[in-house]
Amino acid sequence: MKEHLSSRKASALTEATVERRPNGVFVFDRDFRLAALPSAVAGAFTITPGISLEQLHPYLDRTMLIDYLDSGNPEPLKFLHDLGDGQVRELTVFALGDLLGIVQSQRAADPDDRTALLHQATHDALTGLPNRRQFASDLSEGLRNIEGSGQMIALMQLDLDDFKPVNDTLGHPAGDKLLQLAANRIKSCLTGDDRAYRLAGDEFAIISLGAGLPQRSVEIGEHLVSAFKEPFTLDGIAVFVGLSVGISFAPDDGDDPEKLMKASDVALYAAKTEGRGRISTFDPDMLQIIEQRELLRRSLRVALEKEQFSIEYQPIVEEGRVVGFEALLRWKHPLMGNIPPAVFIPMAESDGLMPEIGSWVMERACRDALDWPEDFTVAINVSPAEFLSEGLTDRISQTLDEVGLPSERLELEITEGVLLERTVNNLDTLNTLNVLGIRISLDDFGTQYSSLSYLKNFPFDTIKIDKYFISDLETNAKSQAIVRSIIVLAHDLDMQVTTEGVETEGQARRLRDLGCDRIQGYMISRPLAGHAIATFLSTSEDRDGA
Ligand code: C2E
Ligand code: CA
Ligand code: CA
Repeated sequence: MKEHLSSRKASALTEATVERRPNGVFVFDRDFRLAALPSAVAGAFTITPGISLEQLHPYLDRTMLIDYLDSGNPEPLKFLHDLGDGQVRELTVFALGDLLGIVQSQRAADPDDRTALLHQATHDALTGLPNRRQFASDLSEGLRNIEGSGQMIALMQLDLDDFKPVNDTLGHPAGDKLLQLAANRIKSCLTGDDRAYRLAGDEFAIISLGAGLPQRSVEIGEHLVSAFKEPFTLDGIAVFVGLSVGISFAPDDGDDPEKLMKASDVALYAAKTEGRGRISTFDPDMLQIIEQRELLRRSLRVALEKEQFSIEYQPIVEEGRVVGFEALLRWKHPLMGNIPPAVFIPMAESDGLMPEIGSWVMERACRDALDWPEDFTVAINVSPAEFLSEGLTDRISQTLDEVGLPSERLELEITEGVLLERTVNNLDTLNTLNVLGIRISLDDFGTQYSSLSYLKNFPFDTIKIDKYFISDLETNAKSQAIVRSIIVLAHDLDMQVTTEGVETEGQARRLRDLGCDRIQGYMISRPLAGHAIATFLSTSEDRDGA
């Protein structure tokens, strides 16, 4: 891959060199210091190697160049710089492996150059959208225009959900491509008086003026969010990145750019924490909610040492008999009470606390499992950050050794997010776990990518069908068809099927008819505290016996 890229870079180099041979190539190292002068001009310049890029071309943005180098993009970048006196400098920048090559030439400006210069200064090179600078000027101008007029402006801030994992796992070029596709999708949702901008990274904004506000901008927001529920195709892979939208209105939420931005920022934060993929309009109460969240986040850092975590166990049943339990983490905050895992696990994940918390769950749950009948398994959820963390398999086998639990009794539940990275690494990890005799379940199947290639390439023992398909199983023919197909597919691939979220006898019966191997859900039992398991098992034995 690397070789392939660098040979493409090399050909970009020869092309650029040939095209601009008269001036030759200036080469800069990773610190942006001049590493080599074009030999043809070495004597003619007063500059020497070691001089910084900033000294030579102060108008080139360092961050943008680093991004470009990291992107592996084989296409050279073109810049135009106004030298005044009717002259422009044309720069062609390209990557030479880790180095940066620059070819420059100077000529008289023509009318097209003026348009190009203006565009370059006010637009984002990657997506073609107006940039932050244009945004700031449009926003100030818009606010000035509506002053005292009784009119409104809507400011929407948009942020891609899960852009970072895509960028980290599929690589920079795919990330760039995704941003371009996202920008196009955003543009396609705009109406007459809306303008979209790229502010930075995966942050976009829309300014809406004119008739129909505020309702119109809420509709645009909803339209955008639903447009982002469709996958993007990157190198033939369907990738889901949702969109979160925060909206504020001038003059009510702020009559200057700073206040208005702050308000839409707060609304965006609220949309993100309420579960992403949604829009939220600013409301002053949100400030309080944010404060609470930050408080929670800080308490999470000490929850482990203050022994505020516990584990509940939910039984998994096969042919009417309990065969194991799934460990579900619980956090009881001293003041705020029980905090749902859907709230604190993403927090722990983004704060980098998950490997440590996960190790605690692993050890505690394996110890607890020793108290259960000898053929029961314990299923433990492993979050993506944990799964991809260094030394996972060693940690697990060490825990099993210390605790004395046979590896066959451990089952790990992972979600497809873990597999997005099609590297040797995660396949290795899965294979190692497999060789150790640990079972692997693919959790929440049907809600994320549901890529069939994962099923082909990774050695799963079980597929867990998400509860999303179960609630309307008895009435919705589509849910039935999906569940039936997943079961047939899994069995053909020699995998077992567990269905979660089974709440009624009717659902259980239907699942049995469809050939589902195991079920889990409130119908059998809610998750139980460790001390309640013995009682549960004795009463369920009674039931079986009856
Ligand atoms: P999950 O792995 O999909 O776990 C199943 C969730 O469904 C649990 O929610 C469980 O209480 C709930 N559930 C079980 N039966 C029913 C039912 O019949 N009806 C309904 N409506 N819900 C049912 P919970 O405990 O709130 O956990 C939420 C998620 O948090 C889990 O989803 C899992 O992704 C994550 N999680 C929980 N514990 C851990 C952990 O120790 N480590 C990691 N990485 N994630 C965990
Ligand atoms: Ca699970
Ligand atoms: Ca699940």
